[in-house]
Amino acid sequence: MIYLDNAATTQVRNEVVDAMIPYFHDKFGNPSSLYELASENKNAINQAREVIAKTIGADSNEIFFTSGGTESDNWALRNAAENYGEKGRHIITSRIEHHAVLHTCEYLSKKGFEITYVNVDEYGMIRLNELRNAIRKDTILISVMFANNEIGSIQPVGEIGRIARQAGVLFHTDAVQAYCHVPIDVKEMNIDFLSASGHKIRGPKGVGFLYVRNKIKLSPMIFGGSQERKMRAGTENVPGIIGLSTAAKLENANLIKRANRESRARDYLIERIMREIPFTRLNGHRYNRLPGNASFSFQYVDGESLLVMLDMEGICASSGSACTSGSLEPSHVLRAVGLSDEVAYGTLRLTISEDTTREEIDKTVDTVKKIVSELRSKSEEYNNMLQKYRRCRMNNGR
Ligand SMILES: *Cc1c(COP(=O)(O)O)cnc(C)c1O
Repeated sequence: MIYLDNAATTQVRNEVVDAMIPYFHDKFGNPSSLYELASENKNAINQAREVIAKTIGADSNEIFFTSGGTESDNWALRNAAENYGEKGRHIITSRIEHHAVLHTCEYLSKKGFEITYVNVDEYGMIRLNELRNAIRKDTILISVMFANNEIGSIQPVGEIGRIARQAGVLFHTDAVQAYCHVPIDVKEMNIDFLSASGHKIRGPKGVGFLYVRNKIKLSPMIFGGSQERKMRAGTENVPGIIGLSTAAKLENANLIKRANRESRARDYLIERIMREIPFTRLNGHRYNRLPGNASFSFQYVDGESLLVMLDMEGICASSGSACTSGSLEPSHVLRAVGLSDEVAYGTLRLTISEDTTREEIDKTVDTVKKIVSELRSKSEEYNNMLQKYRRCRMNNGR
């Protein structure tokens, strides 16, 4: 099997599993209990908090453990609305956010908040001027993702943070795809809220964190006991938290080296596909993109068929559409970068990891190439287009 869907989820590292296991066995205590078996766990959680804080330049009391990226996004947005709704009822976000942000915005708009969705250019980059102009007196929050999960484009987060801070507006960034893949410093980048998730960084599923800058008003996500300083009640997911911090520590330690390695492999993949398969578009920014992300749209190809055929060859990848209420819809991200539905349907996302080998990439390119030409040979539109093209060349030759 060749796994090229690391943006969907990643394989947990062996070291991470090893670090988690004791917390299922002899270290099973409830961190809130008063004997040593328990207090050791409480200490382990707080050490994990410090490890996480260091990876983004935060203080440990600014880190709150959650059940993952989705919960962190929900919490950041709903908290800003709840605690700053008096100041104003306007929120700015982008057209290419994850549904965890977009659907929370939809909910808030039903609650009387006005949402402005700023556009992106053809490379999936936020237009900073448009963002600046969207800020009003009653704007309380800007929520723009650090890097996009579908097309990989990395936003100018430092500049967005500066714009927000100067305007006195809070800034949340969904960094689920960027965390441990791109260097992050929340202080330098003026970030007020940051969401991250364990299972995108070779840690476990169902655990993540929200960074909340000191001095920002915060309301509980879940009511109950006094866990997470009463902000997120419920007995802690101790193995998960240990897994998350172990993964973060390992991934962050060699971030630059790994990013360089992955970018080289990604560039090789992009160059081969673009050179060898005609009528193909690269989605996202050519250079300013996540190290592991490559996204293509093949004209005259149905992406779903391509995925199924790749699966039959043992290759796991992702397409550019989602099944919403029984019908296939091209993704909002591909629409936002200006793709027609027809082209968006031919999208293939390949996301590599540091373990992806040159052989795997070669095998994948060869297979994609073969399947694309098979699918195109059966496509009426493709054959009509070829005929027109040949006729045109003949006429010009005369
Ligand atoms: C995966 C992902 C999420 C959701 O994170 P979960 O931990 O799966 O809930 C949110 N935002 C982005 C950009 C993601 O890629």
